[in-house]
Amino acid sequence: MKHRNQVFDNVLDLVGNTPLIRLNKIASKFKGNFFAKVESFNPGQSSKDRIALYIIEQAEKKGILTPGDTIIETTSGNTGFSIAMVSIIKGYECILAVSSKSSADKIDMLRTMGAKVYVCPAHVSADDPRSYYQVAKRLHEERKGSVYINQYFNQLNIDAHYKSTGPEIWEQTEGKITHLVACSGTGGTISGTAKYLKEQNPNIKVIGVDAFGSVIKKYHETREFDEKEIYPYRIEGLGKNLIPTATDFDSIDEFVKVTDEESAHMARAIAKTEGMFVGYTSGAAMQAIKQLGEEKRFKKTDNVVIIFPDHGSRYMSKVYSDKWMNEQGFFDSINEETTQKIQY
Ligand code: PMP
Repeated sequence: MKHRNQVFDNVLDLVGNTPLIRLNKIASKFKGNFFAKVESFNPGQSSKDRIALYIIEQAEKKGILTPGDTIIETTSGNTGFSIAMVSIIKGYECILAVSSKSSADKIDMLRTMGAKVYVCPAHVSADDPRSYYQVAKRLHEERKGSVYINQYFNQLNIDAHYKSTGPEIWEQTEGKITHLVACSGTGGTISGTAKYLKEQNPNIKVIGVDAFGSVIKKYHETREFDEKEIYPYRIEGLGKNLIPTATDFDSIDEFVKVTDEESAHMARAIAKTEGMFVGYTSGAAMQAIKQLGEEKRFKKTDNVVIIFPDHGSRYMSKVYSDKWMNEQGFFDSINEETTQKIQY
């Protein structure tokens, strides 16, 4: 068993080195071998542990941070949790400016992890002084020696994955990986991992997963920001209404768009078939595999690595709630044909 004879100094020693697990059933009707990089094995249960630890340690190396200093970010999601966790161990104050749309559960969780949470109105524009962007910026300016993680516009987000996720996958597949499929939010995961892998073998295909309602895929294809692409959607952590500089569009070969509904059913199908309780975007990434598989894009000898970014426990009141699924109308179209389609 992994770690059987080891004692760790603290939880941060367990960040990274997540397992690569073969998917035995969910994609079995397609040609190729499929493996999930299961990021919920990080101590903070998501891939964001990697960037929180890396960015904070880089600031320490540069002498920007000393114990007692403040770390600031604008997220109620996985990144917030990971920064709070790293801050506790390393003795920093963690301030998170979050939108009033964030669920009470998430805010409670962050406060439990020692973060100071500023709840900012969701309905104001990004340049309004009350917005969470502006609150974070102001706090950063006011506090000398503070670090603003700014994950969407921080090159270190890419570097964290270039230094860890990429080499891990290369070693775990013994250099035999042929495809990387990953959701793109900030773009840090896919860009950093792709950069490392393509340096080892430029023929590896890198496929990003985007949401309907996000501008990322269109921008990749045209290098133009098309506002018409933007509309509300439900999957959190996937896609964006702006172009993050933490996405290196040149390292990604193509994007596939997935729907909220199919991704939700796919997340549930992963639990039922593989026994892996993963988050909504893992369902989105797997849905992309299904779409590519149906286009016969994989061959027998291919080794496809799919990033599963976080754990299912964070979605109990959403994807894993029948009530929520019903409210979204996601059960309405279920008939025998669709049930068969999603069950594999
Ligand atoms: N899935 C989830 C659940 C996330 O929180 C994120 C990060 N926003 C992603 C996927 C995408 O990762 P990245 O930001 O590195 O593109």
